[in-house]
Amino acid sequence: MKALVKSKPEPGIWFSDNEPTPTLGPNDVLVKVHKTGICGTDIHIYKWDAWAQKTVPVPMVVGHEYAGEIVEIGSAVHSLKIGERVSGEGHVIGMKSRATRAGRFHLDPDTRGIGVNMPGAFAEYVKVPAFNIVPLPEEVDDELGAILDPLGNAVHTALSFDLVGEDVLITGAGPIGIMAGAVARHAGARHVVITDINPVRLELAAKVADIVPVNVAKEDLRDVMARLKMKEGFDVGLEMSGAPVAFQQMLDVMLMGSKIAMLGIPATPFAVDWNKIVFKMLTIKGIYGREMFETWHKMLAMLQSGLNVRPVITHRLKVADYLEGFEIMSRGECGKIVLDWS
Ligand code: NAD
Ligand code: ZN
Repeated sequence: MKALVKSKPEPGIWFSDNEPTPTLGPNDVLVKVHKTGICGTDIHIYKWDAWAQKTVPVPMVVGHEYAGEIVEIGSAVHSLKIGERVSGEGHVIGMKSRATRAGRFHLDPDTRGIGVNMPGAFAEYVKVPAFNIVPLPEEVDDELGAILDPLGNAVHTALSFDLVGEDVLITGAGPIGIMAGAVARHAGARHVVITDINPVRLELAAKVADIVPVNVAKEDLRDVMARLKMKEGFDVGLEMSGAPVAFQQMLDVMLMGSKIAMLGIPATPFAVDWNKIVFKMLTIKGIYGREMFETWHKMLAMLQSGLNVRPVITHRLKVADYLEGFEIMSRGECGKIVLDWS
């Protein structure tokens, strides 16, 4: 089959047309891939940075954001049908830990990643445990299905705290930050402010939802707060940049007793002024992946009830042009890029 493969331990991802089609275990299904999304994680693997070098065994079919159709079913799978249109959770869990045995699947320490340390979805076919499969409702077509993984990150983060009537600050207008802005708006926040230093992304943010873009390289966040008549500070912060300076800036403008959910992954450890966290009595919650499967339920339900994140898809490319997609993504000149496998 055709696939995009990390075949050598050096920068790059290579097209192959003779990858073996995966063989199923009794609890797996085989999905024929229709559309895939390029993720920041794929860019780390493409560039072969320190994280990728220590995490990804080579050779590896990459990619974990996908939508497609079930074409084969393992002998022990009874809940799914051939022909069903699906996406799926990219984190594959064990069933041995205390957390999974208590039903807290997203807290399993044995989590592995499709397209990271097990064969991925940038391929004609991907093997997925039936447990991970999420059937798609009619309202969610294949290109939306291909971005549910990052939308799930956005939903998991945004819904960590009550947003109704609250003022929300999002640092980082990458695809996930922008989608979190749309979710916060849909969920009933009052002001939603998003910061970045990349004008392309801030412009996109304002197109996707009714959120206030702030270029912190040029504008003072406090001036924007004054314009919005925000007297004290933000009630909820969503850190989605991984930039230490963005987090430090967030700490400055949070209200006493407010809450921060952190999705962004800093490249290296950094210092913070703990006095701000202590004396403002902030609650800080780390976010990893999506809740299985509550995040999936909520995001599909919101997509069915008016949440519109389609404008965050800025590029639709054929698989043959995948390198162009990886390059555009590396330069940050885009929202989501979707590859078409048909
Ligand atoms: P992205 O890299 O596309 O977006 C990050 C944005 O932050 C960029 O637009 C960048 O210009 C902006 N930024 C840089 N410096 C900034 C500053 N000082 N202030 C404000 N913004 C600044 O990433 P993404 O795909 O949207 O993902 C968002 C973050 O979440 C990344 O750090 C990613 O690694 C992380 N992530 C975490 C998980 C998880 O499970 N925890 C899952 C997916 C992604
Ligand atoms: Zn992803």
